[in-house]
Amino acid sequence: MSDNRRPPRRPATQLTHSGRDAARYCGFVNTPPYRGSTVLFESAEDFRAGRGPRGRYRYGRHHTPTTDALTEALINLDHGAAYATLTPSGLMAISLALLAVLRHGDHILVADSVYHPTRAFCNDMLARYGITTTYYDPLIGAAIEGLITPQTRLLYLESPGSGTFEIQDIPMLAAVARKHDIITVCDNTWATPLYFNPLTHGVDISIQSLTKYIAGHSDVMAGAITALAEHSEALELMRQRLGVSVSADDVFLTLRGLRTLEVRLERHERTALELAQWFGNRPEIVSVLHPALAGASGHDLWKRDFSGASGLFAVVLDRQWEAGINALLNNLDLFGMGYSWGGFESLMIPVSLQSVRTATPVDRGGAILRIHAGLEDIADLIADLEQGFQALRAAASTAATLNE
Ligand SMILES: *Cc1c(COP(=O)(O)O)cnc(C)c1O
Repeated sequence: MSDNRRPPRRPATQLTHSGRDAARYCGFVNTPPYRGSTVLFESAEDFRAGRGPRGRYRYGRHHTPTTDALTEALINLDHGAAYATLTPSGLMAISLALLAVLRHGDHILVADSVYHPTRAFCNDMLARYGITTTYYDPLIGAAIEGLITPQTRLLYLESPGSGTFEIQDIPMLAAVARKHDIITVCDNTWATPLYFNPLTHGVDISIQSLTKYIAGHSDVMAGAITALAEHSEALELMRQRLGVSVSADDVFLTLRGLRTLEVRLERHERTALELAQWFGNRPEIVSVLHPALAGASGHDLWKRDFSGASGLFAVVLDRQWEAGINALLNNLDLFGMGYSWGGFESLMIPVSLQSVRTATPVDRGGAILRIHAGLEDIADLIADLEQGFQALRAAASTAATLNE
């Protein structure tokens, strides 16, 4: 589908043109959702040789023109990728990637700030198959080398970290891993391949939840793995053996979201930064966890490695106001309370590190609130927050009076 004779296109152009071939679909701009299980072979000879139409299609579970359109677009966007596959959720991209490359007896190193279900998969599932996990401080730097054992087979990265937004020195960590023949896997959901390309920073396998910014409309669950060529065989084998397949309609919606990724992310980024600054000026907030904010922790590494920031960040609330958190959350009209993020709508939820951190402190100086900046008008969002903070102060003062 892509024309290899032309020079590589810039991201916004790739987003709008990759994975499309109007001539193949009667001139219609979009690749249609191919719903299908059976694919008819053209002859007994083709059937016996496993040679389906276009030499590619054999059965709905493997590939369809719709899944090919999205994987092709993802490969074009994620520089360094030779392989891409889709999964029915971001979490399954993680579990599939880990299962594909690990074996009984292996040891893995996982960032302590990892997305919590990733941790649960390591603890509850990998442990059952004889794979042990050590959690490390995401800011460990070169000291990671001290945690490597002869059994260490994989280093798992996620930057920024879930809930606490630590930026890891990915090129350095990946270089140490490579020296020891250790595979690196990176969760790139926050930045998307538009703002960070793990594979050109030394990482072997990148995973992302397409549910978030790529689909972008809070109406799809999907994930993707992109990888260097040397891992494509192992990943594809595990995908086929597990029977991983994604519905045509979900792929179609994800492709539709992908087309507008750049303009949406620009707005998410701008609004999140303005909100982060607003929070930074509030007396109730002790710190803002947003790597793109000048002076914030991780800012220098973010600036070196990333070309943009998305709309998810967190703030730490001074302990004296903690009794007002429920009042704050209950008095916001525009910020919804719910899991996931990356959709058009703003969200705010409390983050608890209890039971999800073992290598770094649970106490970050106060309660953490995670904010997703949606596509609403910034002035309305700030007015909503002002009303919420009034409720927070009122509730916290009442609680303080009762305690006197
Ligand atoms: C949401 C999320 C996932 C999982 O994605 P789903 O599509 O919800 O399964 C993985 N990693 C990170 C960092 C996430 O925030």
